[in-house]
Amino acid sequence: MVRIDLELCNGCGLCARNCPLGCITIEGKKANIGAGCSSCGICTRVCNRGAAQKEAKPPAGSVTCSHCPVQCQVQEGFTGACRRYTNIKGQLVRNRPLVTSVPKPTLPPPEIEWPLITAIGAGTEYPCPRPAPYIVQGQRGGIEVVTVVTEAPLSYSGIKVKIDTNFHIGEEGARVRRDGQVVGMVDTEEYGSKMLYIGGANLLTGKSGFMAARTIVDLANGRRVVLKVEKGSTLELQVGHRPVIDGQEDTTMRVGCGSATIGLFAYHLKGVVDEAIILDHHIIGLFSEHLAGQEVGMTYSGVIPAGRKSTRGRYFGDPGNGWGGTAITDPRQAIKAVDMNIARPGMRILVTETTARKAALFEVQPDGDVREIPLTPEVRMVIELIASNCEEARVSALYVGGTGGSARAGVTTLPVELTRAVHRGEIKLTIGGAPAMLLPGGGINFMVDVEKVAAPEAFYWVPTPATVAPVEYTMLKSTYERIGGHLHRLRPVEEVVAGVRD
Ligand code: SF4
Ligand code: SF4
Ligand code: SF4
Repeated sequence: MVRIDLELCNGCGLCARNCPLGCITIEGKKANIGAGCSSCGICTRVCNRGAAQKEAKPPAGSVTCSHCPVQCQVQEGFTGACRRYTNIKGQLVRNRPLVTSVPKPTLPPPEIEWPLITAIGAGTEYPCPRPAPYIVQGQRGGIEVVTVVTEAPLSYSGIKVKIDTNFHIGEEGARVRRDGQVVGMVDTEEYGSKMLYIGGANLLTGKSGFMAARTIVDLANGRRVVLKVEKGSTLELQVGHRPVIDGQEDTTMRVGCGSATIGLFAYHLKGVVDEAIILDHHIIGLFSEHLAGQEVGMTYSGVIPAGRKSTRGRYFGDPGNGWGGTAITDPRQAIKAVDMNIARPGMRILVTETTARKAALFEVQPDGDVREIPLTPEVRMVIELIASNCEEARVSALYVGGTGGSARAGVTTLPVELTRAVHRGEIKLTIGGAPAMLLPGGGINFMVDVEKVAAPEAFYWVPTPATVAPVEYTMLKSTYERIGGHLHRLRPVEEVVAGVRD
């Protein structure tokens, strides 16, 4: 339960706006905690004045939920912060029944899973009403299949670049430049990877549109590109290769965040060290306090790590160029303090990072200070185990495009029928033979892994500016008839493969 210190509270309402259960009202310019507070702690963390304070004693009749690190104290008759569990007479009950059936998938027939030919090298027809350059038909398993191909210029296009690294490359939203021109931005981080978005319709039509188009295509075609993040790192990126950040090649991606590393290796750490601090720019893990530590029989050691506390044994780190992508450059800094009311002299504290490339061992001194000691063989074994579970760092990319506009005219006379059939799975969209992932909703927006494209150098750019992608639509001939396809342009696939000209 939370109580409000009315002396400190100024009624700003920040807590009320953030409470997931709507428990807080502002009355007379003071916050008031209503019924059902789950002690999730959000209000105590968002209040800048320290006015919302968690009571030490759980409310009578509450049950502590252990389904996530938040550990809500769910009151009788109420739900936890996520609303998934209700305390019914002292038992936590899942509110939603398990869904045990799924609709039968309307999978496309396998005959249309891949194109009869790719669109790489097909060229483009312009203006739009002209049928696509190649509309071919062939047989698969006795079924008539049609593939329509065009190297479509896509002004709605970009590339999402995934860089497996713990290095801090720059702030989210920071602009990314190539040869001084803005070509994209730093996107949100996704698990062990930093993401960039290069291009996009607005950049392509802006002042640096040509450079943006060239950069998308260079990356998609697997060429090496040097980019500079504003107030951040210089990146040398090539799809399929290790990233080079500020001149330093990164070799491995982290095994997980610091909390996940504790969870994954808790059994291996137990008995080897008394405490482990796993440094990570996202979540720093503290072994003895973490629920995974408790699970293997640890009790809190009294060690206080650097970082802002999130939940039990989980702390937020500050990003930087130090250990685990944090600002900590000296492992000693990872140990903020040792509470000698709990700790005992001689205790061993491991400090490492989520790639386990660096590790240091400290011994607690009688005065609460710590002294670095050599790694023991047992500690080395755990470190090597963590390191061996890390995957190789590499650069990957998804080309992102939209073919839901005029590009449809080359395929059909009834554009919306094409879009609907694509979304129903009656038409398979591939990009240079690689399966495209369709984005839900209207239009034909897709993403494709550029490394799955059938041939190298498959992407181009035109100075409208737009990028050009090989797009194939494969379907049953009966579907092509139904959606108003350019049937008069159908040619046998054998003829096209043999190089017979129109
Ligand atoms: S956020 Fe703090 S100061 Fe603001 S209303 Fe809530 S308790 Fe009061
Ligand atoms: S602890 Fe959580 S549920 Fe309780 S009032 Fe604060 S934000 Fe709401
Ligand atoms: S799973 Fe839901 S109810 Fe349980 S602790 Fe987490 S947020 Fe609270």
